[in-house]
Amino acid sequence: MSRDSSFTPTDIKADRPNGRFEIAWSDGRSDGIPFRAMRCDCPCAACVSEFTGERLLDPAKVPEAIEPTAVELAGNYALKVRWSDGHDTGLYTWSHLRRLGDDAPAA
Ligand SMILES: [Zn+2]
Repeated sequence: MSRDSSFTPTDIKADRPNGRFEIAWSDGRSDGIPFRAMRCDCPCAACVSEFTGERLLDPAKVPEAIEPTAVELAGNYALKVRWSDGHDTGLYTWSHLRRLGDDAPAA
């Protein structure tokens, strides 16, 4: 078992007034991850090259007011988000969300 699987979310909420996801973790940490930062860091093959890891998505093309329109769990390891710009192929694993939480301003 990898270190990354030692924490799981206990609660995930889309906080629309503040434009971010509120995530509570099993180790007691909580993160506020801005929608736009999360959309810009989408890990899908259309946004990041699978071969070079190069980011293909131009953040300037992501609307400022981006929002999730649907959120669902993918198995017990990731979050699948449909965004208001129509993009829905990104899976955000727990370790990815933790890393985004590390980068986000303190909630
Ligand atoms: Zn993507």
